[in-house]
Order: sequence, then structure tokens, then C-alpha cells
Amino acid sequence: MLHITDLRPTTFDPATVMPRAKLEISDASAVVEPIIDQVKARGAEAVLDFTEQFDGVRPDNLRVPEHAMTQALEKLEADVRDALEESIARARAVHAAQLPPDTVVPLADGATVENHWVPIQRVGLYVPGGRAVYPSSVIMNVVPAQAAGVPGIAITSPPQADFNGLPHPTILAACKLLGVEEVYATGGAQAIAMLALGVSDASGATVCEPVDLITGPGNVYVAAAKQAFFGKVGIDAVAGPSEILVLADETANPAWVAADLISQSEHDPLAASVLVTTSMDFAEAVVAQIEQQVPGAVLEDQIREALTGQQSGALVVSTLEEAIDVTNAIATEHLEIQTKDNEAVLEQITHAGAVFLGPYAPVPLGDYSAGSNHVLPTSGTARFSSGLNTVSFLRLQQRIRYDKAGLEPLAPGIQRLAQSEGLHAHAEAIRYRFE
Ligand code: NAD
Repeated sequence: MLHITDLRPTTFDPATVMPRAKLEISDASAVVEPIIDQVKARGAEAVLDFTEQFDGVRPDNLRVPEHAMTQALEKLEADVRDALEESIARARAVHAAQLPPDTVVPLADGATVENHWVPIQRVGLYVPGGRAVYPSSVIMNVVPAQAAGVPGIAITSPPQADFNGLPHPTILAACKLLGVEEVYATGGAQAIAMLALGVSDASGATVCEPVDLITGPGNVYVAAAKQAFFGKVGIDAVAGPSEILVLADETANPAWVAADLISQSEHDPLAASVLVTTSMDFAEAVVAQIEQQVPGAVLEDQIREALTGQQSGALVVSTLEEAIDVTNAIATEHLEIQTKDNEAVLEQITHAGAVFLGPYAPVPLGDYSAGSNHVLPTSGTARFSSGLNTVSFLRLQQRIRYDKAGLEPLAPGIQRLAQSEGLHAHAEAIRYRFE
């Protein structure tokens, strides 16, 4: 089911050995544009109409009432609640440690610059709920926003026909556990448009105020809508399908590696599961395990589609150095390293969203409870961007404090630089102060 490519006898370009899935954001953009136009023109009514059309249910209200969240938490099974609370506690510890300190840099007498971090004031967090429901994504979005001190947090997630047009109860319970009160029952492009634009109902009463930043994973329609609003609001990323790359040698356990590759493929038919190894025997053992484990899996069709797609496969290379080159070139969302000396391999890894070391740190640990964030860069964007973190919800505001003694020694130089750029009014602004 997972195709093996033997690269050992060949010379190859690490950047092209593993093509990615073709994600047609441009096709989705054509679908999303009229949705955005309608939300702009008709506000909450349009959001409700599209929700009914795409999710098969029309919520009574877009805003989820407080008592629905209280009830969801009361009815939550005790072991699920315990697990959510443990995940929240670990995520809070890790994200609190990411909060950067303000710094004041004294540069001369009467001259300082302060680096001051300001929380973004209002954020919209998207929690997916189409094919599966993701209470874990509530934690991964809310915890860093709260660690940053964001005062206004709104969450939106698709309504479920089975739950009277409310988002899934576990999502509502997670919101309640985290202390988030503003939750909306809508998904897809219409939800992103609601957050970016703000919407009112037919009587003109505000239903949702616009936000400054939208974060969170979602399908191709969510990604296309986030892209359309980038510039009007901030966005974390335009997320593509999930990806795992396992870099393993013959010391790894093929059954465990197979299970990890399968686990990411159940997210999406376009999900990428890639094995990079120096051992053909090991690659064959992993493929044999996949053949054994997949039949009868709950999401078997989706898993098969993902594992047989062009974006998935096992690559066998000659040396560990080649394996590392290929891994860096792919710049995967999740990287598992399972080799004789994981720390030595890690030293040479430059590009990966998050790195999971050793047989007891599988990706599902990070999906739920490691304390790390699971909203990570996909589609090779790990070359230049990070996963969601506390700093994603902060802006750096520099505060410049110079008095006369601080400015005076710099004045001639600034005037010369301004003149050399042809900006004479800039030079004048300095000159006036010392006449
Ligand atoms: P979703 O909530 O992203 O999308 C569901 C919404 O899509 C629906 O509410 C509907 O409004 C809209 N939609 C569906 N079909 C449409 C159509 N034909 N036209 C216009 N709009 C349409 O849920 P999903 O579909 O399950 O996708 C979730 C995605 O998020 C998956 O790809 C999953 O892998 C990913 N995910 C990623 C992470 C991560 O951290 N990287 C975490 C969780 C989920």
C-alpha cells in the first residue's frame, strides 16, 4: 500500500524526490469568493444560510448560549475531562515559558529603546468540525492566546446536525474548561468571513465583532478564506493537509513506525505519510506491517487513499547523511526520529515543524498531550515559519525614549543621512530642535 522507492543506486535531488499532494486552493477560492461577498452584504443571515447549505443544519443562534457549554461540561465523561485537563495543564506550562520578557536597552545618556510585547486585542480561533471534531484544537489555539494575555477570544466551529445545530459537545466542554465564553456555531469560509468582517442580524444588532487575527487549522475552504482576508486581519498560516515523516534505521520497531504513519493518514485523503530509511529490510517490514494493520481500521478508505497518494511513500537511501538531506528538503510538519543516535541526527535537522524523538514520543502524543502545539507549518512552510505559539498572539511595540542629551550627538549624522536620501524635511525636523 505504501510505495517503496529505492534511491540507493541513483543520484537524486532531495528537493524533488517526494512530491506533495496537489491542493487546489485556487479552485476553493472561486467557491469562497461569493460566500465572502454574501456575508459582507447580508451579515449573520448569510452566515446562517451557508451553514445550513454546507453543514445540513441551521443553528437557532450563531452564538452558542452559555448554558449549552455548562451542560456540555457537566455531561462530559470523567475520563475525557481528566485527559483534557492534563493536556491543558501541560500546554499551559509550555506556552507560559514562551512569553518573551520586555527589555529596555540603554544606548547612551538619555537614550533608551524598549522592546515591549503587546497582546493582540481580539482573536478568532477556528476549530475544525467537518470530517472529525477536534477538541484538542480548542486547547492548541486557546492556550497560547491566553498565555499571551489576549483579552478578546472568539471561537467558531461547525454545528453538528446530531447536536441540535451546536458544535460538538466535547468542543463546548473544552471551551468551558478553558474559560472561553464567546463561541459560534459555524464553520468553513462563512465562519472566517464572520470573524474577519464582523456581522449583525437583520435588525442591525451586532452578532459578532470583527477580530484582528484568525488562527487555527481547517480544510481547503477555510484556508482559502483565511488567505482572502490576509492583510485585513492577521492569519497564522494557510494550512495544508497533515504530514508525518519518520526518519528511521533498522533499530526502530517496524510495527510502531507503521502505526505512526497510518495515524496521520486518517486525518485527510491528501495527508502525507513518508518513511525515510537507510535499510531496505526495514522499509519492507514497515510496509508489511501497514498491510497487516490497515484492514479493518475505522477510517480504512481514507487511510488507503492517503497512503497510496503521490505524497506518501518509503524512500530508501544509502547513508544517514542522505536521509537527513531528504528530510530537511521536505521540511515536514511532523518529524519522528527513530535511530541509533537520535540526538546526533537532531543536531543536523534544520527544517521540521516539530520533532519527536525516540520510540516513546510518537506524533499522537503531540496531537493531544505532550504540552507542545499541534498547529504546525505544512506544505514545506517549516522552512520559514513556526507552529502556533505564544508569540503568534503578541506584537512587538518599540518604545523610543531620547532626551536632548540623547539626541544631540546624533543630530548631525541624522541630518546627513536624511539629505543623502533626498528627504530634506526629515533633516529640518532635527535641525529645528537645536537652533
Ligand atoms: P472544517 O471545519 O475545516 O471544514 C468544514 C466546513 O467546510 C463546513 O462547515 C463547511 O462550511 C465547509 N465546506 C464543506 N464542503 C464545502 C463545499 N463544498 N463548499 C464550501 N464549503 C464547504 O473540517 P474538515 O473538513 O474536517 O477539515 C479539517 C482539516 O483540518 C483536515 O484537513 C485536518 O487534517 C485539519 N486539521 C489540522 C490540524 C493541525 O493542527 N494541523 C488539526 C486538526 C485538523
